[in-house]
Amino acid sequence: MSEVSVARRVDEGAPKRDQAWPPWKERVLRGYALWGSPLGAEIEPQGHGKYTVPSCSGQGVTYEVDLDISGDEESCSCPDRERPCKHLVAATIYRSKARAKARREQHQRFETLEARRGARG
Ligand SMILES: [Zn+2]
Repeated sequence: MSEVSVARRVDEGAPKRDQAWPPWKERVLRGYALWGSPLGAEIEPQGHGKYTVPSCSGQGVTYEVDLDISGDEESCSCPDRERPCKHLVAATIYRSKARAKARREQHQRFETLEARRGARG
């Protein structure tokens, strides 16, 4: 097999980057990485769907993220032009994790109450 045909076969086997890997997917992964990094612990809810999210550069810079609970467009004060930016993604993950935690706690309270009721008979 010639070198050219090996290269072609490898190329054919690779996913089509434009189709399998849309540009926003990279930003989602970067947002996920930000949320999972030590900086993710500095994401602060400000109420009404607003969050402060640290810049990846560190240095204490934070951006204002508005996940918008009123139905308008989500926004972030960072200079990135591409949306969703990683700060929007990180805040979205933060919010969904917080909601999941609240649901678990509510469920546990309910189970505790049910157990008490059961114990009283
Ligand atoms: Zn941003």
